[in-house]
Formats: sequence, structure tokens, C-alpha cells
Amino acid sequence: MRIDVLTLFPEMFEGPMNTSMLWKARDRQLLDLHLHNIRDYSRDKHRTVDDTPYGGGGGMILKADVLVPAAEDVRGDDDCPIILMSPQGRLFHHDVAVELAQHERLILLCGHYEGVDERARELVVTDEISIGDYVLTGGELAAMVVIDAVVRHIPGVLGAEGAQHRDSHADGLLEGPHYTRPAEYRGLTVPPILQSGNHGAIAKWRRQQAIRRTWQRRPELLRNAALTEEEKRYLAELAEEAAEAERKVKP
Ligand code: SAM
Repeated sequence: MRIDVLTLFPEMFEGPMNTSMLWKARDRQLLDLHLHNIRDYSRDKHRTVDDTPYGGGGGMILKADVLVPAAEDVRGDDDCPIILMSPQGRLFHHDVAVELAQHERLILLCGHYEGVDERARELVVTDEISIGDYVLTGGELAAMVVIDAVVRHIPGVLGAEGAQHRDSHADGLLEGPHYTRPAEYRGLTVPPILQSGNHGAIAKWRRQQAIRRTWQRRPELLRNAALTEEEKRYLAELAEEAAEAERKVKP
């Protein structure tokens, strides 16, 4: 997969894009990452990329006559998505990451300062993504979050086992707890079933723990999770246990 990033601060990407899974993905040529400095598309001797907003108000706006030629040049004849990082975009989550990973190429446009001239959105942007309901200083951190989450879904990046299929959100549930050696630490022990060697029982226990954890932390996710009849009964038992515990506290 090829990802092009248009940014005023390409140096911000150096650490994250050259570390761990992203470095491996690039090294194995599963991710072809290109960073483009928006400033290179400025047409004046001061390399200006922004200007004050029409109508007054604070902040600086990234200029359409810099952003549009930059995006068009990077896109070339391709019709790949040009995605503006924006707190006003659609919210990024697991399904969006899976969807974006289906593309052969993406172009991510990072805003900065007060934002981008509306005409750049109208002329070249095909999608807008927000990584959450808060405002960042620039689109760079958001672009890195999107790249990391998308690249995990490129076949081969996480190895043959494909850990992304077991991770939280992959099947609508949060993942259950993990343990490693030692078997006892500060009086806390590993659940015996995980040491039993019974793979069927371990798989069932893990699934139940995932349901339990989701019910405790993000119950709204369970509305869309595909549960078997047995799992639905388990969920009902959890609710009954909690109701019983509450009755004991408040008789
Ligand atoms: N004035 C803009 C507004 O209120 O919508 C916010 C501009 S913000 C300071 C500068 C840039 O950071 C944005 O153009 C966008 O590229 C990026 N950005 C900020 N928050 C973001 C978020 N939650 N998700 C994605 N990108 C974000």
C-alpha cells in the first residue's frame, strides 16, 4: 500500500514511521510511505503557505493556492482518496481503518494553524477524518494514528497469525485479560485454566472474558456484537450477578 502525506512538518513523522511495526512494514515493502512538504509548493520567495482569514478573527489559514496544486501534483493521474485530517471529519474507528486498508493508495492532508481554506476542501479533498472530538494543533499526529491503525490491516504486516483479528474491536468486543510468567506475582495468580493446556476450554474462557470486559467497560458495543445463544445466556448471567450484588449493597 502507498500512503502519501502532505504536511508542513515532515520531520514529525521520523520517529513513529521508523519504529516497530511501521518500520517493519516499510522494510518489507508492504508500506510505501512518501512525505511531502507543503511549503515546497509555495510560489513566493518567502515560501508563504498561510494568510490571515477574510473577515478577521485570529489565526492563520493554509492557502488554497498552495494546497490544491500540492495535492494535485502528488495525486497525479490517480483517483485515490485525498483525506483531510480534521476535527470536523467522520470519526475514525476500527471499521474505518479496515475500509481504508482496502485502498492501494491514500493521500493524507494535514492541516495546521486555524485550518485550511474551504476551497481546498471543495476542490481536492474527497474525505475528512477526525481521530476524536477534541482539537489538535495540527493534522500530523492524527495522520500518524490513521497510518498505524490502517497498516495493521495490510495482509502480512502482523505476520501469518494476523493478531489484528483477535484484537479489541475486531469482532465488536474488547479483548480479555492477558498474563505471562511468573504464574504468581505479589499474591496475584494466573487463572488456572490458562495453564491447563486445554485449548478448547481456553478459547471459551477468553471469549467469555471478552464479553465480560466489554459489558463492564463499553456495554454499548454489545448491541452490534455477534453472540451465540450460549453467549447471550452468559451475558444474562453477568447482568443477574450484578443485580444480585447491588441488591446486597442496597437491601
Ligand atoms: N479551527 C479548526 C476547527 O475548529 O475545526 C481547528 C484547526 S486545528 C488547530 C489545526 C489542524 O489540526 C486541522 O486543520 C486538522 O488538520 C488538525 N486536527 C485538529 N484536530 C483534529 C482531530 N481531532 N482529528 C484530525 N485532525 C485534527
